[in-house]
This record gives sequence, structure tokens and C-alpha cells, in this order.
Amino acid sequence: MAISNGYLKNVFEQVQKRNANEPEFLQAVEEVLESLEPVVEAHPEYEAAGLIERLVEPERVIYFRVPWVDDNGKTQVNRGFRVQFNSAIGPYKGGLRFHPSVYQGIIKFLGFEQVFKNSLTGLPIGGGKGGSDFDPKGKSDGEVMRFCQSFMTELSKHIGADTDVPAGDIGVGAREIGFMYGQYKRLRNEFTGVLTGKGLTYGGSLARTEATGFGLCYFTEAMLKANGKSFDGKTVVISGSGNVAIYATKKATELGGKVVALSDSNGYIYDKNGIDLDCVKQIKEVERKRIKEYVNTHPEAEYHEGCKGIWTVPCDIALPCATQNELDEESAKALVANNCFAVAEGANMPSTPEAIAVFQSNGILFGPAKAANAGGVATSALEMSQNSMRYSWTFDEVDAKLKGIMEGIFEKCDSASKEYGKEGNYVMGANIAGFQKVAEAMMAHGIV
Ligand code: GLU
Repeated sequence: MAISNGYLKNVFEQVQKRNANEPEFLQAVEEVLESLEPVVEAHPEYEAAGLIERLVEPERVIYFRVPWVDDNGKTQVNRGFRVQFNSAIGPYKGGLRFHPSVYQGIIKFLGFEQVFKNSLTGLPIGGGKGGSDFDPKGKSDGEVMRFCQSFMTELSKHIGADTDVPAGDIGVGAREIGFMYGQYKRLRNEFTGVLTGKGLTYGGSLARTEATGFGLCYFTEAMLKANGKSFDGKTVVISGSGNVAIYATKKATELGGKVVALSDSNGYIYDKNGIDLDCVKQIKEVERKRIKEYVNTHPEAEYHEGCKGIWTVPCDIALPCATQNELDEESAKALVANNCFAVAEGANMPSTPEAIAVFQSNGILFGPAKAANAGGVATSALEMSQNSMRYSWTFDEVDAKLKGIMEGIFEKCDSASKEYGKEGNYVMGANIAGFQKVAEAMMAHGIV
């Protein structure tokens, strides 16, 4: 698919010129603009208001130095970013990613996706994202703490409970959020809901840890149900072994599926008996080791080097939960050849555009990231609500709200796809439904 509408084509050419060295951002923008063609054609006032030109330009990009001292007394310097992409419908909201691959283009693509994702949740949150090229892997707790404190010392100048509320993403879990929250509180002398994903003893929400993985399965279940299918008795392959993959495994299993494979950036494990999740949690969350350790205690399981091979494992349902562009055209074809019938994205933009084309032309049900993984940020918004009320809901209350939100998101994607004559194309449905609310708010605010 290519952009054919003249207005959108011009905007995209400008985006290409301005962001030539940011391929992930261009990929995310191109997909959204392709989807918006029928909407823009039905609303000529958007062109007159320069709406799309404004939508593709972040409101603010913050770039800063993060100096910290390692355990050998040597000074290290990393780069920190926060992209405040769009605040039309609420304060900027979105995670922080700490990974060596982070540069401005990654944060912009994630921030752009977040705008539509957050809108789809139906909750009042704008889109933002941040992070650093710091790699927490192999660092001591003291090093991670000093890095987080330095990062927050600068970031604290730009965020706030009603301005911008960061959370976790790859490389930022409970430990990192705790260190950053402690530093924010100390600098501001304020106890606010400025970060989400907080620990339960200091304002976190029950079910936030589980939310992205559980939400992914609730969305997938709704998508399967609408198409006369379910998780029950199905074989499931999930890439990754971080927070999203772990809780997707838990919920998919509860819903009757059998998860047979998980991966990390080195390779994947295959266990035909179904993954022993307690063992994976012990390896990844407690010992912080590689997934290959699994076969030490499960000799019947297999470990294979290289993470791409996971898509050759036969399955009915595939849930990519590792990272962007992890599932390419060849992998998509392997899934089709093995009769996989549904794919839903737990990571952000894990499927390449070519892979998505393979799914769509082969009638595979496809749940795009900005809809399917919105459960994390939706529950972050519920954490913000609880913080504002100085109140906590029970696990079951939050989980029930999350389920309702994910079913609502599927409903929005489904009806937008039908409204624009592309029934079952949930990529278009998600992009259009996410866009509509932001567009209406931006139009109401005038040229800002
Ligand atoms: N990083 C997650 C995402 O990609 C969660 C963001 C949040 O909770 O603010 O949506």
C-alpha cells in the first residue's frame, strides 16, 4: 500500500525530508497516514487547518546529558530523551525505554504510536515517550540507581502529574521506577502520581504489572470471538520474556491456550509440554539471566540460538512481545505455512510492513500494537485516577476495568474498519479510531 491522497502525500514527503535518519519514525507515520486517507477525504477542513502537518510534529523534544559514576569510579555519559508528542486530549503519557538502541528516532516512533494508542483507551491521556541509550543489563543496583537519579534530576524539570507522566518500557521495570520516583520526590518535596508502574507501597496500582500482557490476551480474545474462535486448546507462541511476554503467557494459559515458546535477544526455548512460567520468572526477574537457563531444569525442552527462529515453531496464535521489527516477511510466511490464524502485537511495532501485508493477504486476524498492547498504558491511567483520588481499587476491580477497556478498543477498531469499508482490517480501524478523538480535540483548540 502507498499513500495516494495528494495532501497526505505532500505531508509525508515533508516528514521524510525532515526525519531522513529516523526510519522507525517514518515507518510508523507512513502506516498511519495510509490508513487516514478516507478520513481526510471525508474532512476537507483538516487540510485547511494543517491538522496532519501538526499531528506528525512533536509538540516538544527534550534531549539531555545524563552523567553518572560507575562502580570503578569512572564517569559515564548517556543521552536522555523525552518526546512530548501530543497533549490534545490529556497530559503526555508514555513509557521510558533504557536500551542501547535508543536514539531520537526510536523515541519519536514510540511517542507517535502512543498518541493513537492512548486515545483508543478512551481515557484522557496524551502521547509521549522517553528513554536513554543506557543499558541496565550487567549493571549493579548501585549503578542503575545513580543513573536513574541523574536521569530524573534533568527529567523532573519537564514532567509533573498534570503535565507529563512517564512509566516503564523496555529496560525500565519496578526497580528503575522506584529509583526515579525516589529522586523526583526528593527534588520536588511532593508525593504525586508523576510516574506510573509504581510499587504497591507507594501509590502503584494493583494489576499494573500484569496489565500489558493480560490486556493483550483480552484484546486477542475479543478479536477471536468476533471471528468465531477462541484461545481454548490452541497452541501459542510468544516472543520475548520480559514483563509483557510473562503476563501474556499467564493469561493465554488461563484462557485455555498452551504457550510452547518464549525468547530473549539471544535465542528461544521450545517446550512442547507448555512453558513452566515460574521457572521463566525466576530466571528473568530474580536471577536476571538468559532464557537458555530454562533447559537446565527442563531437559525435555529445546533451546535454539537466534531469536528469529521462534516464528518457525508451529502455532495457532502468535503474540510478538519482544521489540520493533522482530517479525519480518519471511517469518510471517513461516507462520502462514504453519496455519497460524491470529497474530496480536504485545511489543510496539514488532511486525514489519511487509509482514503485515503477508498476514492481511492470507486472511490472518491481525491485532496491531497500538490497540492490542494498550492495556499497559490504560492501567497506568487507572493508576493516575487512583492517585488523584488518594484511593486504591482491588485487583479484581482494576482487572475488570482493564478487560472492559480492551473489549472497547476491539469494538472501536472493528467498527471503524466497517465504517470505512475495510471490515476486519484492524490496522486501519485502530489508526482511524485513535485519530478521530485527537483530531476533534485539535480542531476544537484552534491552530496550536
Ligand atoms: N510503555 C508502555 C507502552 O508502550 C506503557 C506506557 C505507560 O504506561 O505509560 O504503552
